[in-house]
Amino acid sequence: MPDLRYIPNVVTLELDAEKCTGCGRCAEVCPHGVLVVENPTARIVDRDACMECGACARNCPAQALSVNAGVGCAAAVLAGAVGRAESSCGCCETS
Ligand code: SF4
Ligand code: SF4
Repeated sequence: MPDLRYIPNVVTLELDAEKCTGCGRCAEVCPHGVLVVENPTARIVDRDACMECGACARNCPAQALSVNAGVGCAAAVLAGAVGRAESSCGCCETS
């Protein structure tokens, strides 16, 4: 997985800790280690690593997470096009 970072402080990811049951599913599916689950609910530990793929929100059974999915992928490609980063956000890689 490339160590690509999104543009700082613009990620739309939101966590409602009051809804979170601590099931751990979001941390399992996140490809960038953005979330951890401990004592006893989820916590965002690396917001700017989020590529807004939407996997966490789609897999959260408590609707505790929200994110404008898809924006991060497009931004990563655009950042690559202007030479600021690699041209992939990394969320779709299969190897
Ligand atoms: S949107 Fe994707 S990258 Fe961001 S926290 Fe959720 S699973 Fe991780
Ligand atoms: S998937 Fe949802 S309910 Fe489960 S730990 Fe993550 S935020 Fe909490």
